[in-house]
Amino acid sequence: MPTTSWHEAAAALAIDGRAFIDGKRTDAQRGARFDCLSPVDGRTLAQVARCDGQDVDAAVKAARAAFEDRRWAGKAPAERKKILIRFADLMLAHRDELALLETLDMGKPIRYSRSVDVPAAQNCIRWYGEAIDKIYGQVAPTADHSLALVTREPVGVVAAIVPWNYPMLMASWKIGPALAAGNSLVLKPSEKSPLSALRLAELALEAGVPAGVFNVVPGFGDEAGRALGLHMDVDCIAFTGSTRTGKQILQMAGQSNLKRAWTELGGKSANIVCADCPDLDAAVSAAIGAIYFNQGESCNAPSRLFVEASIKEAFLDKALAMIPDFAPGDPLAEATVMGAIVDPIQMKTVLGYIEAGKADGARLLAGGAASRVESGGLYIEPTLFDGVDAAMRIAREEIFGPVLSVLSFTDIDEAIRQANATPYGLAAGVWTADLSKAVRAARALRAGTVHVNQYDNDDITVPFGGYKQSGNGRDKSLHAFDKYTELKTTWIQVG
Ligand code: NAD
Repeated sequence: MPTTSWHEAAAALAIDGRAFIDGKRTDAQRGARFDCLSPVDGRTLAQVARCDGQDVDAAVKAARAAFEDRRWAGKAPAERKKILIRFADLMLAHRDELALLETLDMGKPIRYSRSVDVPAAQNCIRWYGEAIDKIYGQVAPTADHSLALVTREPVGVVAAIVPWNYPMLMASWKIGPALAAGNSLVLKPSEKSPLSALRLAELALEAGVPAGVFNVVPGFGDEAGRALGLHMDVDCIAFTGSTRTGKQILQMAGQSNLKRAWTELGGKSANIVCADCPDLDAAVSAAIGAIYFNQGESCNAPSRLFVEASIKEAFLDKALAMIPDFAPGDPLAEATVMGAIVDPIQMKTVLGYIEAGKADGARLLAGGAASRVESGGLYIEPTLFDGVDAAMRIAREEIFGPVLSVLSFTDIDEAIRQANATPYGLAAGVWTADLSKAVRAARALRAGTVHVNQYDNDDITVPFGGYKQSGNGRDKSLHAFDKYTELKTTWIQVG
């Protein structure tokens, strides 16, 4: 923690909003900039380079040159490992600064950006750094007169486009495996939260990642993002964001050079609590904690809660008693657990869904309004709707805000059917003491992650990603290397 208060540290923070291309800070070639506003109190944090196609082209050229002369891929894995671990160490050394940038930029409480986001992001870089020299190729079982080697090679120039809800962590999920595999990278952070990514690129250079290997082009989706999607010299695009944009990314890949395209997209995750749940307090605490964590701006937030009818009243009593603990507060205050909504557009979207819930006849039991309006920032009360019907918009569409929709059920098979009746398939949860029921549900739920009798476990060792329109491919774990490597078969004639 800083020796002064977080407010004083924020006032003293020098923020550079220029792009990072070929190892140097640089303005956009046309000189365009945009204001980076803080949702904490509405103030302007920095003027950020508004990169367009020209800047993207310069970054891709730098990345290509770095890849072709093998200044990174050509280093011994043990050397790349040392550099990535140094990079992770530097992230830890700059923990307060990175946490502050993240909180000011997108509104999450400083206690979490410091204790969750920075540690998890640096751990991700460290983990992939550690993995580099432990990945072996294979020898295929072929006839005596030949030898067939199956090896992994870097795919080349990787473009990564990431969202604003966990800016540093989502970027690190791409940076770690992409760089560990020997690729060059052009990263486009969200226009709503560009600051931590720019700082990460500087720290990577300081750690020894050669110039040109890791570039950052801040800017808007339809300018910098689109230019990356359509670029003919990008070999792979790794995207995290909304399902709507993910579909465009796949189209752009198809329209251009058929670059490998990977998408991690939206969710509307279901959490099913059965009457025989082994610990009702734990179930309530996880359901409430997971939907309001990060202001509800989590792709895997359990936004649809199915509670068995016989325990619904008891469940809701406990939930409503807990909700005041999540009242939004100043994100720079250590005690705050719920911070600001990222920007006025998202604020309007979430409040619009709350109105839709009321209009559709759901019962508003908690929240339902903006709060802390006097601070000049953007805050919404933790909101809970009971009596939600599966046909209502708040039960079908991703809200991406602190809004929980409660539905009830009497038959677990029907609850599973409803849980699966969504275009999304990112995460799900089931709570029951009956092992067979838990396993049946876990098998039947069409989601990339299923939680049993907990909701919030996470680890870099496990894959993360979605079924259906929640995307393809997986971030995290060794499986992420599948995105950033090509498999090569080399046949050698013997004798
Ligand atoms: P978004 O799709 O609006 O934007 C994501 C990124 O794509 C941003 O950098 C944006 O500038 C860029 N972009 C927008 N339009 C583009 C275009 N036409 N071409 C290229 N790039 C474009 O999403 P968002 O609002 O930033 O993020 C929220 C969404 O992200 C939610 O749906 C959430 O569920 C999802 N998300 C998914 C995961 C996951 O791992 N599955 C993780 C975090 C967030």
